[in-house]
Amino acid sequence: MLPADPAVPDGWSTTGEMRVRLDTDPYLERYAARVRGMSASEIRALFAVASRPEVVSFAGGMPATSALDMEAVESVVARVIRDHGATALQYGGGQGRPELRALLTEVMHHEGVPCHADDLVITVGGQQALDLIARCFLDPGDIVLAEGPTYVGGIGAMTSNQAEVRHVPMDDDGMQVELLEEMLEQLAREGRRAKYVYTIPNHQNPAGVSMSVPRRHRLAELAELHDLMIVEDNPYGLLDFTGVTYPSIRQLVPKRVIYVGTVSKTFAPGVRTGWVAAPRPIRDKLILLREAADLCPSNLTQMIVESWLTTQPWREQIKRFTEVYREKAEIMLGSLASEMPDGVHWTVPGGAFYIWLTVPRGIDTSDLLAKAIAQRVAYVPGRGFYADGSGGDQARLCFSYPEVARIHEGVARLGELLHAELDLVRAVYGDDAPQFRPRHDGPAGGLGG
Ligand code: PMP
Repeated sequence: MLPADPAVPDGWSTTGEMRVRLDTDPYLERYAARVRGMSASEIRALFAVASRPEVVSFAGGMPATSALDMEAVESVVARVIRDHGATALQYGGGQGRPELRALLTEVMHHEGVPCHADDLVITVGGQQALDLIARCFLDPGDIVLAEGPTYVGGIGAMTSNQAEVRHVPMDDDGMQVELLEEMLEQLAREGRRAKYVYTIPNHQNPAGVSMSVPRRHRLAELAELHDLMIVEDNPYGLLDFTGVTYPSIRQLVPKRVIYVGTVSKTFAPGVRTGWVAAPRPIRDKLILLREAADLCPSNLTQMIVESWLTTQPWREQIKRFTEVYREKAEIMLGSLASEMPDGVHWTVPGGAFYIWLTVPRGIDTSDLLAKAIAQRVAYVPGRGFYADGSGGDQARLCFSYPEVARIHEGVARLGELLHAELDLVRAVYGDDAPQFRPRHDGPAGGLGG
């Protein structure tokens, strides 16, 4: 036995170059309760392999930044440094620059969402906004209602603040608001209430569908009726393929909505610029929370976004992105139709990045991922998008990032794998394959959305 190495904490050992983790995390006892239950999933390790070039990855929700005019971006960045370098490299205010807030209200108006620059707080992407909102409202054990499935990072913001996320099922028209109503009534009977409803009404991540107009109106009515707050997360509204315009929930019940926006999908996620629009008292709390977290947003990236919005044809760039995604969506839909075995279903997106796949009973998408990656195709298993461990028969396919030429290849590989798995399931179970029980994979984070 090797003598104990004083540089190695309890619970760890070293064998030559290799460091082996024994039993559990040696620091476990020291963590705050909200952190103790957090762990990286095995799935996360698989995604490290999925980023190899031979794998067609439908996993990460990443924008096609290669569709940006890089010379234009270069000139924007250079101009900020040349003309405003000292300010750009200095600290700024906690609410974010007034110039940027005013410009972002124009972006919101472009989508038909009214807003005043004073209502906005600039954040480090929409993700920080979701975290600040969760920290502002949630005590341990509080209930939040969210679409099922919903955005991984949204779940993470809520559960890392020890909230209980209950899911409202979805269909092709988004959140089934009539079921939300039942859940609200049930909560009232229990003498409890939801702290807020978290919704992504436009081209939802991961389901790819949008909430219908009547449901938006009903949601707004329910908010009044049940004295509810709504967190409306809208990264994808401008990436619309269909020309249908939906009213924002904010428009319908402004005092009850905390609205989250981002330039990640309309410009670039690398500038990490998002915002939250909230009623003034909530806005003030969010500013204090953000100052405690990181003092202020980066002046440099805020000014890059300002310069992008004032000197570049940003509306045309959004159209260009949308065309790229529409073409990729069509290719993926065509490939699914030709390659998937009977019994596999999927949503038809009206915009943005995602298709939501449901596979027949007996196939577990978490268990299948390692085989898929061995076949050089990756997706995100459905369980990552539920806080309650359901979704084992579902998966998210993101078509925004892979090259057009590789989408068919990736879907064909997945189709071949599913054909083979289904043959196996039928051979073992006949027509009576088991329904998988809910199970937790752990957060499928680190995928850029
Ligand atoms: N909300 C949703 C629904 C998302 O899909 C994402 C990222 N993909 C975000 C928020 C956060 O994005 P970002 O922090 O880059 O603005």
